Amino acid sequence: MRESQAHRGTPCNTPRLLRLLNTLRPTLPDPRGPAGAGHPAGPGGGRTGRGTPVRDDEGVTSPTPLRITALAGGVGGARFLRGLLAHLRASGDPARREAEVTVISNTADDVVLHGLRISPDLDSVMYTLGGGIDEVRGWGRSQESDGVARELAAYGAGPSWFTLGDKDIATHLVRTRMLAEGSTLSQATAVLCERWRPGVRLLPMTDDVVQTHVDLAAVDPALHHGEAGGRRVHFQEWWVRLHAAVPALWIEPVGAATATPAPGVLEAVTQADALILPPSNPVVSIGTILSVPGIREAVVEGPAPVVGVSPVIGGAPVRGMADACLASIGVPTTAAAVAGLYADFLDGWLVAEGDEAPTTPGLVVQHRPLLMSDPTTTTALAGAALDLALAVDRKDRAA
Ligand code: GDP
Ligand code: CA
Repeated sequence: MRESQAHRGTPCNTPRLLRLLNTLRPTLPDPRGPAGAGHPAGPGGGRTGRGTPVRDDEGVTSPTPLRITALAGGVGGARFLRGLLAHLRASGDPARREAEVTVISNTADDVVLHGLRISPDLDSVMYTLGGGIDEVRGWGRSQESDGVARELAAYGAGPSWFTLGDKDIATHLVRTRMLAEGSTLSQATAVLCERWRPGVRLLPMTDDVVQTHVDLAAVDPALHHGEAGGRRVHFQEWWVRLHAAVPALWIEPVGAATATPAPGVLEAVTQADALILPPSNPVVSIGTILSVPGIREAVVEGPAPVVGVSPVIGGAPVRGMADACLASIGVPTTAAAVAGLYADFLDGWLVAEGDEAPTTPGLVVQHRPLLMSDPTTTTALAGAALDLALAVDRKDRAA
């Protein structure tokens, strides 16, 4: 059984999705409300602290469900979150089994192609947790076809380096239509999650447009598929077309400085019992989320302990080109150096066996198998991150 099947909620609810789309404004779900997972109490409702027992009307005590909030990018974040949900749902501890997980997603990889708003990280989390991901690629829809992409190619309508599958395009059509009709990205995400029921509350970091742009170094075009560099490109062009092989002089989440956190984001940070940083890209996933004014401050000042999982094992990113991103900000590709990026708030850090532990004062470091190679290891890793978050003391973060 695939990990995702263990924790899927009720099956797709397509008629409801259609109803929502056909009568959009009056019936839009509150983006701060549940999107695929039950959050019966709502933010702050009925909580008395980490797993504190509460007495119901009949005097029966039960622990309050934990509130766990994660900041996540795409593939690395999604895989970890699938393990976290598997860990929680199989737990003998009711506070974990009923835990409410909120995911704050990076939206600065978003791009408009062929007029469609594409949100790769939101979709990777939604498809992975909802059971619709292509397991081999780690992104996009399973059993995908490319009829539209081939028709576009026949028209010469680029870019050819970013292909969109047919099923995936339906997601982008729903999102784009909703945005064009005045909905926010939060609202569009909530509607899409009505179908996928990811088992988490999935929130974009912001409803404002933020796009990561990359300043390319000047390079020899003969060595880089004709690319001479010396110009600014969208992150997707650097990542997908150029495979981050052209050095980045500067990476900037354009629009972040004036963006506001999406509804529910700050509350999810400040009301969490545990904040978790999955092994997502520290620069263009987690770093970008933290660059939205208010989010980093809420993480630093909030009461929840923060535990992260290193995306770097043995001096290299596991998948992708995070080393190129780290190089652009002058940070070595080591688990210790990545922890340094979070030094002002990190309480616990999981590093791979054999990797050097950072020496940040007050930081609790544990060595664990970090390769999310199979469901069992991934679930154990997520459980270890949560265990650590519930065991560490939140360190004094007075500036
Ligand atoms: P993206 O938006 O699709 O690039 O995904 P994320 O930002 O969520 O995650 C990318 C990061 O995940 C990369 O830096 C990888 O090193 C890391 N990663 C991917 N697979 C694994 C894994 O199995 N274990 C660990 N520790 N990190 C991983
Ligand atoms: Ca991403």
